[in-house]
Amino acid sequence: MAKRAYNFNAGPAALPLAVLERARDQFVEFGNSGMSLMEMSHRGAIYEAVHNEAEANLRELYAIPDNYKVLFVQGGASTQFAMIPMNLLRPGTSAAYVATGSWATKAIEEAKLFGDTKIAASSEADKYMRIPAISELDYSADAAYVHLTSNETIEGTQWVEYPDTGSIPLVGDLSSDILCRPIDVSKFGLIYAGAQKNLGPSGVTIVIIREDLIGKPALSAVPTMLRYDTHAKASSLYNTPPTFGIYMVNEVLKWVKEQGGLAAMEALNRQKAKLLYDAIDGSGGFYIGCAQTESRSIMNVTFRLGTEELEKKFAKESEAQGFVGLKGHRSVGGLRASIYNAVPLESVEALISFMKEFQSRNEG
Ligand SMILES: *Cc1c(COP(=O)(O)O)cnc(C)c1O
Repeated sequence: MAKRAYNFNAGPAALPLAVLERARDQFVEFGNSGMSLMEMSHRGAIYEAVHNEAEANLRELYAIPDNYKVLFVQGGASTQFAMIPMNLLRPGTSAAYVATGSWATKAIEEAKLFGDTKIAASSEADKYMRIPAISELDYSADAAYVHLTSNETIEGTQWVEYPDTGSIPLVGDLSSDILCRPIDVSKFGLIYAGAQKNLGPSGVTIVIIREDLIGKPALSAVPTMLRYDTHAKASSLYNTPPTFGIYMVNEVLKWVKEQGGLAAMEALNRQKAKLLYDAIDGSGGFYIGCAQTESRSIMNVTFRLGTEELEKKFAKESEAQGFVGLKGHRSVGGLRASIYNAVPLESVEALISFMKEFQSRNEG
């Protein structure tokens, strides 16, 4: 390979080079089996070992308590938007959602299809450029659950600290910041994440769910595949799981362990984010950070330039120099650098050099 791109894609996103190389080496023949892992039964001993190792590695990294199940499901985080209310939102109760941006809004719209959905707090008036303070949250004491979006991938905001919802289950969409820092899983009733930002390739979704929330679904006639108890009872082998995707997730988990675990991952992520935000803030107003300072994401750094024309020029010229994925999401515009776990420090440093050079050529 000549040169790796400076990959700032929002998702699917950069994977660690070491993981890709290991997967390449095991692609055609897994171990001494005479076949690829993709050609094996999901009920055979070889695949089963990979499946169990992926679960064990995730449990180890997050120190997941024993009363939680780890599930590998399909359909992306978007399917969880429906599965959560179908399974947890009993008729006669309501669910509380924190409206923080584009992904929270999708989760809310989906929940409305199934039951009474209330907004516990919203930052819409601030164009979703901040995460509401925990003190702003207002929800009923008999809410079925409180849902938050840990990291708003499109707006570039992230929860710093999670609320303590007491006996009400806290449900978290961690699709774009899973594994970016240590968290206390026991604060949550349910955590979910599509794999394709920080965990592996698309096609696998992780659910970490407290056992007391698994059982007969809240609604009647929930399809078998959309029931948590189906997957929990069968150790995520009710039907054919995305075996190669789960293998890749396991390789990424092993890589995170090799880097020193989640605390080491967080330190590196903070270093990368600080460099980039410092470059934005130190540009004398040429680059403008979108998210309010206290709510800035360490995964997705969103920024603007003085005019849309200049932003287009930045996107185009950066691309010509080997930078990928810096154009902001079509719904909000601007620019966005996604700096997930697998994005190396060197990519961030190269981006900052380009930003400085671009500024010197385009300053009025
Ligand atoms: C990407 C993303 C989703 C959607 O994930 P899919 O796997 O494509 O359904 C949901 N929530 C957040 C926070 C995301 O970043």
